[in-house]
Amino acid sequence: MEKGFALESELLYTGHQVEGMDLKPEAPPLFLTTAFTMDSFDEVRAVYAQGGYTYVRTNNPNREMLAESVSLLEGGERSHICASGMGAIASALYTLLDPGDRILCNRSCYGETYELMTLLLPRMGIETDFVDFRDLDAVEAAITPATALFYTEVFSNPTVAMADIEALGEMAHRHGAMLMVDNTFSPLSVRPLQRGADLVANSLTKFLNGHSDAMGGAVTGRAEMIGEIAKVSMLLGNPGDPFSSWLIQRGMQTAGLRIRRQLENANRLAAALAADPRVERVNHPSLPDYPQRALAGRLCPDGLYTPMLSFILPEDPALLDRFLRGLRLGKYAPTLGGIRTTLSHPVTSSHPHVPDPLRREMGITPGMFRVSCGIEEPEDLIRDFLGALDGIC
Ligand SMILES: *Cc1c(COP(=O)(O)O)cnc(C)c1O
Repeated sequence: MEKGFALESELLYTGHQVEGMDLKPEAPPLFLTTAFTMDSFDEVRAVYAQGGYTYVRTNNPNREMLAESVSLLEGGERSHICASGMGAIASALYTLLDPGDRILCNRSCYGETYELMTLLLPRMGIETDFVDFRDLDAVEAAITPATALFYTEVFSNPTVAMADIEALGEMAHRHGAMLMVDNTFSPLSVRPLQRGADLVANSLTKFLNGHSDAMGGAVTGRAEMIGEIAKVSMLLGNPGDPFSSWLIQRGMQTAGLRIRRQLENANRLAAALAADPRVERVNHPSLPDYPQRALAGRLCPDGLYTPMLSFILPEDPALLDRFLRGLRLGKYAPTLGGIRTTLSHPVTSSHPHVPDPLRREMGITPGMFRVSCGIEEPEDLIRDFLGALDGIC
């Protein structure tokens, strides 16, 4: 890490202090206030001149403390905290793009990011071209003179395909475009800013908070760019509120420890499921049959990839239902990233509107479950999943 200690250590000593605070509480304090008072016009002038704390939508110490932790984790200069991941993504795109600009986006991206690009941004004169980012030649062929921004997640949901963000960053820059990466699915394991991305977005609602009790989002990058996005976010009214920011900062202190365990659990569970003949297929970069093995090794040299995996069981609705009922560690939940293992069923949750033949072409079948690994003891998790399989086949 930049500051010299391991991330697990640094996170415990980051985001505890705000400028001008004399007290030194052991835990980060909560500034649950909509504004800060001033006693004189001298003070009013000084506070506004220095960009000090004024009104909650403009600035708040809890957002600043959380931003410091996110910047440390991503290795970025500055972060801005929004009320949600979508708030962060939308604020960034509205800031960075002008009418007439085009986005080049990975065909597989988060559903609401897709809707933002197809339903809302066209009204501002901003169009998006969707390409499968695994095919770099196709990406290059889709670039137009108006392409201003490449957009991708590192691992796509639920097939866990990987985007070569190093090559994409190089290509974007060669064509005068920026690369924006949504890093929600690769916390800790990939740091896009160090791999050529210009801007990183995170849904803090997921792994970085980790406790499934608060919603938030962040963008991280060069200070000047983040300052511009913060201004737009302030006008759109989506900066993070103090209490959610405080909760997420509380979660961030253990992010290093928790997420490392979640990443290791995904490797362990993927291997156990892949070794079981009742499972038709497992998608995870740790497995020998992962189609992008070399890329995974290059972007994740530590052998930790993503806490997310997917696997395919026979397409029998009754069997799938029995499997879900048979699990004790692992619950169906339309989210991911929490300390408890959660599952989703892409055909009913994230991809219900995609026609079946296209879904199958994407590798998504009615027998597929997506798993987000929690921090359970890995042997327990494996025993529970294999036990639920015993109950059905
Ligand atoms: C959840 C998620 C988002 C949106 O985040 P919210 O906090 O729900 O607004 C964006 N991208 C990815 C990859 C996500 O998983």
